[in-house]
Amino acid sequence: MLKIGIVGCAGRMGRMVAAAVAGAEGARIAAGSEAAGSSALGQDIAALAGLPACGVKIVADAAKVFRASDAVIDFTAPAATLAHARLALETGTALVIGTTGLGAEHEDALQAAAKKAAIVRAANFSIGVNVILGLARKAARILGPEYDIEIVEMHHRHKADAPSGTALALGQAVAEGRRVSLADKSVRARDGITGPRKKGDIGFAVLRGGDVIGDHTVVFAGEGERVEIGHKASSRAVFAQGAVRAALWTKGRAPGLYSMRDVLGFVG
Ligand code: NAD
Repeated sequence: MLKIGIVGCAGRMGRMVAAAVAGAEGARIAAGSEAAGSSALGQDIAALAGLPACGVKIVADAAKVFRASDAVIDFTAPAATLAHARLALETGTALVIGTTGLGAEHEDALQAAAKKAAIVRAANFSIGVNVILGLARKAARILGPEYDIEIVEMHHRHKADAPSGTALALGQAVAEGRRVSLADKSVRARDGITGPRKKGDIGFAVLRGGDVIGDHTVVFAGEGERVEIGHKASSRAVFAQGAVRAALWTKGRAPGLYSMRDVLGFVG
């Protein structure tokens, strides 16, 4: 039985992860944390997720979660994920990271932690999105710069970061397909007199509202035709199940920084 810890277990994703671990074969909930001051502290992790109680209470000390677990699943916020990466480095406990909006300082901490622990990081843990990442990379390579690429995403009104981590991952995939740097080509906002579109730009458009779990479309707009590759999530369970699959995959895995492509065994 893989002992899985859940940090941020009262969050939208944390609760889904608790349910996914409870329903997974070969895994059990070992420990869980929430932010200091959270009203969820002291509550039963499974009960908070609407399941029969599992007898494991939510604590504020994430170090305890890392010491009690073989793998920890983290869908929290960038500052918390930074602290969790340091705990993975200290304890060697595997870490599965779904938090998005990470910057350069988080990247350094992940690289450091990956020397001592297996780290799986993905902007999106759904299998469907990982399939369209490969399709978008391939389409960008075949269609070439004559087709203008725009990436459109919509999420619920509570989302903190924009564009979504998945939209940026799609941007990275099409940039790789075209063999260009996303940083050089990305256009993250347009407002006012912007002038005509520059050939080769990779544009992003962001919508926020309601309870949308996550919609993404990559548009390849050419002369006389348009190709669209899209994905719509209708349940957070797909992300939670993917994260649990990644946690199970870390068992016996050498330290390193891995992606869902590694977990799913995708080529191309
Ligand atoms: P949320 O705000 O509902 O949940 C985050 C939880 O983390 C909260 O309960 C918060 O109290 C807790 N938290 C914050 N700091 C903490 C700390 N130091 N220790 C323990 N807990 C702490 O947000 P959400 O919708 O569940 O999303 C969380 C993150 O996951 C976001 O970055 C989101 O973009 C990302 N996300 C990723 C995927 C994916 O597949 N990779 C899918 C959905 C969401």
